[in-house]
Amino acid sequence: MPFHETEVLIIGAGVLGAATARELSRYKVDVTVVEKGVDVGWGITKANVGVVCQGRDTLEFRPEYHRTRLLWRALPLMEPLCRELEVPFKKVGAYMMVRDQVLKEKLDKLAKRTESLGLGSDKYYPFTELREREPYISPEIKGGLHDPEIAVVHPVYLTQALMENAVSNGVNLMLETEVTGIQAGHSEFTVQTDHGEIKARYVINAAGEWVDRIAAMVNADDFVLFPIKGYVGVLDRNCSQLAGSLLAVLPEEPGDMNIVVPTVEGNLLFGIQLQINRRHDRSTTEHMARLALANARKLIPEISEKDVINSFCGFLMFRNFEIGWHECEVAMSARVPRFVNMTIGYPGVSASPGAALEVVEIMQADGLKLEPDPKFNPHRKDIPDFSVLTEKERKALVRKDPRYGHVVCRCETVTEGEIVEAVRRGATTLDGVKFRVRPGTGRCQGGFCGPRVSRIIARELGIPETEVTKAGGGSPQVPLRTKQLLEEGGGDG
Ligand SMILES: Cc1cc2nc3c(=O)[nH]c(=O)nc-3n(C[C@H](O)[C@H](O)[C@H](O)COP(=O)(O)OP(=O)(O)OC[C@H]3O[C@@H](n4cnc5c(N)ncnc54)[C@H](O)[C@@H]3O)c2cc1C
Repeated sequence: MPFHETEVLIIGAGVLGAATARELSRYKVDVTVVEKGVDVGWGITKANVGVVCQGRDTLEFRPEYHRTRLLWRALPLMEPLCRELEVPFKKVGAYMMVRDQVLKEKLDKLAKRTESLGLGSDKYYPFTELREREPYISPEIKGGLHDPEIAVVHPVYLTQALMENAVSNGVNLMLETEVTGIQAGHSEFTVQTDHGEIKARYVINAAGEWVDRIAAMVNADDFVLFPIKGYVGVLDRNCSQLAGSLLAVLPEEPGDMNIVVPTVEGNLLFGIQLQINRRHDRSTTEHMARLALANARKLIPEISEKDVINSFCGFLMFRNFEIGWHECEVAMSARVPRFVNMTIGYPGVSASPGAALEVVEIMQADGLKLEPDPKFNPHRKDIPDFSVLTEKERKALVRKDPRYGHVVCRCETVTEGEIVEAVRRGATTLDGVKFRVRPGTGRCQGGFCGPRVSRIIARELGIPETEVTKAGGGSPQVPLRTKQLLEEGGGDG
């Protein structure tokens, strides 16, 4: 017996699944999203540098590539989307720089190409002028091309906001539900999960790192993927003055990436150190960390390893080399009707609004009836960010709810009111709260505020503190109460 029936089933609540769910929520259609994790946006989307890329930074964005078309379709949509969902969107601009005068010719080519594609005209700045704009760049840099359109978003905030808005418009979200098998019937799919069966007329496979494995369950794996691991380092906020824009060095070899990126929160990220690696092994290695840091110092010599407060890895899922190693797969399977595969190695965040639109059109062309829902509300209110409010706004907020007057995370000035609101919006873990309102993202990385946040989560969810985890199954924060520990003899050492 199926435990659930739906018209469209989306597998995966990463940025692509969430954007598609939100796009579909404009219509009177029954949509369900299944996500194996405890929260949304914690797959590849979490391991991201958040650049809304313009497709003019390298020659690898050829107009004939599908991913380029999706990106260019998405670009005019991203800023208005972020406004509707109250997701921070910051236009920081970018400098694509060269260390070698010979490579300047390549920059000239890029600039001409940008102009000929009607994407604007990027200005070249020689070192002296560049240094006036970005005072910390290395004297080795010869000059750089300025792209004023580059923006940054927080990919997890965006995914949460898309999903929150989709759910408030009627989409059904099932967390901690893993797809384990799929059978294609004549008119519907039977999808097995660890919680029972789901019947669905259409399936959208947006399972990120596992998209090809899910497709293979139903013989819809008519594409090959090569996961390439990418390392990113995070610098303390006290380094924010080191770069005001995205700084990048023109790649000298394919896949050579060396960037420093300001985030919407004011930290700088550096990387992306690439490495062919076994899938699922998201661990950061000392080797990758050293290479990334050495590269970052070639851009900004003042970057110190003492300022690296965190690091992470994620997989860029690229298509096979013959097609073009950067190509994506966003299409209905040629072998299995009504089964849509959706994966973009890079830049999936930037291209997500375009990819979502295209997937909806693919299903509509196939016969899915999409009647606009007059009750659709495109707006979502963000959680107030106490740290950036004016004194007057802070006082007004505290008058309304005194919990906003209690600062829990000192590094990031996060209040109890914000943490409570994060839990109300769906956070059930420490990371769930951290990725909504930031306690634990500062210098102390949660060492001070972690136990306090844990206590608030337990209180709000009505569960014992021993049940609060860092990020779901297998990551308890308080394994045993002291009393229990002593009773069990664990206190004897
Ligand atoms: C280091 C790095 C930096 C990047 N920087 C940028 C950037 O600056 N700008 C940009 O635009 N793009 C960037 N990208 C690319 C971008 O992150 C990806 O294109 C995008 O996040 C892919 O999103 P997704 O929804 O396909 O995958 P995911 O975010 O991985 O979502 C898939 C979801 O499916 C779930 N899932 C998997 N299997 C199952 C199952 N069996 N049952 C149920 N659920 C399942 C997973 O738990 C996951 O939540 C970067 C990527 C990396 C690795």
